[in-house]
Amino acid sequence: MERLAKCSYFVKGSLTSVCMACSRANCICPEPKGIVAHRLTYKDKNQKTQTVYVPDSRVKEVRKLILSYRKYRDITEMILDLNIKIFKESSRN
Ligand SMILES: [Zn+2]
Repeated sequence: MERLAKCSYFVKGSLTSVCMACSRANCICPEPKGIVAHRLTYKDKNQKTQTVYVPDSRVKEVRKLILSYRKYRDITEMILDLNIKIFKESSRN
């Protein structure tokens, strides 16, 4: 449970880089300036895609947060397996 608390600061989604001017991953600007903006996109509870702007200075942090989400998911899967085992054991008479 301590491990669970430690990695409960996370975000899900993926980090993408887009052109600052046209907001596309593959720039369509007539004269590309090559200035990139970072975004985190994820699906909310209604399965609607959300986009969050990520400042340059926080890209590393967001990458870590995405990894933390994966760890969190692994741990919840582990707990789930364990709970199924406990359930099965306790239903056996
Ligand atoms: Zn562009």
